[in-house]
Amino acid sequence: MSMMTSNKHNAVTLHESTVRPHWAERLSALRARITRHSRILIASDFDGTLSPLVEHPGDAVLTPEAPAVLARLAAMHPRVRLAFLSGRSLADLASRLGPAVDHAILVGNHGLELRGAHLDWIHRSAFTVRPHLEGLIERLAPGLEDFAGVELEDKGASLTLHYRRMDTLDFPKLRAIINALALPDQVRMHEGKKVFEFRPQVEWNKGFALRRILRRINLSDDAVVFLGDDATDEDVFRKLGTTAITVHVGSATVPSHARLNAHDPADAVLFLDALASFFDNPTFMDSRGTTPTASSGSPPCWKSPSKAAPTANTTSNPGYQG
Ligand SMILES: [Mg+2]
Repeated sequence: MSMMTSNKHNAVTLHESTVRPHWAERLSALRARITRHSRILIASDFDGTLSPLVEHPGDAVLTPEAPAVLARLAAMHPRVRLAFLSGRSLADLASRLGPAVDHAILVGNHGLELRGAHLDWIHRSAFTVRPHLEGLIERLAPGLEDFAGVELEDKGASLTLHYRRMDTLDFPKLRAIINALALPDQVRMHEGKKVFEFRPQVEWNKGFALRRILRRINLSDDAVVFLGDDATDEDVFRKLGTTAITVHVGSATVPSHARLNAHDPADAVLFLDALASFFDNPTFMDSRGTTPTASSGSPPCWKSPSKAAPTANTTSNPGYQG
């Protein structure tokens, strides 16, 4: 077991198990929805969404095409606002985003830390939970010594036990240790992709954090795009409801409250590139701030999947006019 200085989530009840349409099948409707707004928020998770999942969480980097696409979107500030919401600590997240971080709103520790848009803020539970997390580290660490490929990451406001590199045969033993852990009332355990996470026992998550951001920048759900891949992102998908553009990154058949699918982080970045091309369109917005009839004329229909829709387009962006 190794210790890292520098991620949770509650069990999500999922109602939708049908195959989500790929974003490229809904380009025309997406364009109509997006371009009728004078300002939009594009928000995304990091790991598994814009960055391929890696064996060691410290090695995670943006997928190769992401920096250029994020820079393109960042240059559209303030018409386009970027936000990144991660289970990583805020400082760790910021260090992995490159120049895109400059105008971006950052959310770390699953919503417990916010920065940007005059939202600099830390949830009080991040402070009150510390002694309990420190006590957990003391109790957990000795039992983890025998495991190879396990890392306990201290993120200040939460702990993450990573076991992606562990031999799967060791999982029952690790699970037994976790199950035997008597957690203080102030801490709740959550499971994600190859992680156990220990977070403050509070009614707060990425979804609440995004709500706070939307109030601050005065945007409604229908002017929001959110991408995510894991259980903590379901908190956002549910919170946003059906009027936002929500994209689950991964298998199209994994149950999710998101409405659209992207195959993987590289595909998610192609989606972002497609959004950028909508805004590059000179007819997007006239000087009075009203949308041209060409893009506002067609009603949003992407929520109603068509069985006759084309298959995924994973090439570059031209031709996204639908
Ligand atoms: Mg993720």
